[in-house]
Amino acid sequence: MSPDLLSGLAWTDPAWMSRAACTDATQDASTDEAAVAICRQCQVVEPCLSFALSRDETDGVWGGLTPDDRRLLKSLGGLDPHTR
Ligand code: SF4
Repeated sequence: MSPDLLSGLAWTDPAWMSRAACTDATQDASTDEAAVAICRQCQVVEPCLSFALSRDETDGVWGGLTPDDRRLLKSLGGLDPHTR
């Protein structure tokens, strides 16, 4: 298996998802603001945001960013500081 394929599989590994703060059903994530507040307490913000960006997720809050935030981040070159 090539390293490229392995890195691609890393994003399909649900291990980080099992540590997601948003899986706590007692928290209110009914608005983007409420969802972003939950993300601020989450320990897997970075893989979550990378996952959403890699899949061009257009709905919901991922990695503490709304869809508009993610579009802006992508327009600025994404998470890679070398593209900014
Ligand atoms: S960063 Fe936010 S959306 Fe992503 S797993 Fe954590 S709480 Fe859920």
